[in-house]
Amino acid sequence: MLRMKNLYQRGDVVFSFEVFPPKTPQGFESLYRTVGELAGYKPGFISVTYGAGGSTQSQTLEIIQQIRQRFSLATTAHFTLVGATVDQLVEFLEQAEGVGAENIMALRGDPPQGQTKFQPVPGGLSYANELVALIRERFPAFGIGVGGYPETHQEATSPDDDLAHLKRKVDAGADAIFTQLFYDNADFLRFRDRATEVGIRPPMVPGLLPILSLAQVKRITALCGSKLPTELLRQLESCGDDAAAQAQVGIEHCTRQCEDLLHEGVPGIHFYVLNRSDSVRQIMANLFPASVVGQAT
Ligand SMILES: Cc1cc2nc3c(=O)[nH]c(=O)nc-3n(C[C@H](O)[C@H](O)[C@H](O)COP(=O)(O)OP(=O)(O)OC[C@H]3O[C@@H](n4cnc5c(N)ncnc54)[C@H](O)[C@@H]3O)c2cc1C
Repeated sequence: MLRMKNLYQRGDVVFSFEVFPPKTPQGFESLYRTVGELAGYKPGFISVTYGAGGSTQSQTLEIIQQIRQRFSLATTAHFTLVGATVDQLVEFLEQAEGVGAENIMALRGDPPQGQTKFQPVPGGLSYANELVALIRERFPAFGIGVGGYPETHQEATSPDDDLAHLKRKVDAGADAIFTQLFYDNADFLRFRDRATEVGIRPPMVPGLLPILSLAQVKRITALCGSKLPTELLRQLESCGDDAAAQAQVGIEHCTRQCEDLLHEGVPGIHFYVLNRSDSVRQIMANLFPASVVGQAT
């Protein structure tokens, strides 16, 4: 199974899917059903998020192990440095290696609930570039992905500073950049151009979240700081309380985003699937009308 370093050199577009550790036993069954449905698209990897400071942390690796065993797919374990000393970070990375994860999504993480500013713990790290450097030095086999922010990270002192910090992550050894979700491709394309100008070379993969409902997208964009374009908001509002119609607007918008991004030559698309496959399957069917699942890539 290819690691990130080689994955994007294959020449064809790489689709990847991001899931999160669920809270209930039924949630786990539904998660594995979803991954089984998405496996037919031959994804480059399935990535599993890492909860900052919660009980879901150990579940990330449990799920990675299950996905590898059940579906023989490559995996990416998300990992943050929140609340951990370097020794604890190394311990987690050893465990990730033990379960066979091919890649690590190396993130700083958000400040724990109730705190507005990120505070490193004594003996811990402060920024994701330090985590990338640690992984590169101690676990050179891992593929390493990092986050990038087309609309600038919320805590950044300026767009240029944010880009300079992205470059630090790349210089420390990141293999690929996965962006925060966005709904206006112009933001991604501008960001990609600016990154190229400052010498950022690794593949930059757009992260897309198909909208499931107006309430959901309002909540998520408020949290991560991505904007909801006025016309898209208007279309969602015009559906009233019809949840299925809102999801359909989401599918159509995401399909258009994908078509345009593929036309712009992106190396892959990373879907935030929120443990559900219905919208993504519809989007893939729109993009590849002639293919049956399993031949999409
Ligand atoms: C693809 C993707 C997946 C994610 N998955 C998860 C997940 O599983 N779990 C989770 O908890 N969160 C996840 N997040 C959210 C992420 O943890 C937050 O966005 C977090 O606030 C920033 O993480 P980062 O790795 O981008 O941080 P960093 O790159 O460290 O940047 C954080 C802030 O500090 C600034 N900065 C960076 N380096 C320096 C430096 N050396 N000196 C001064 N300032 C600096 C940056 O400009 C930015 O404002 C994900 C985000 C993305 C894009």
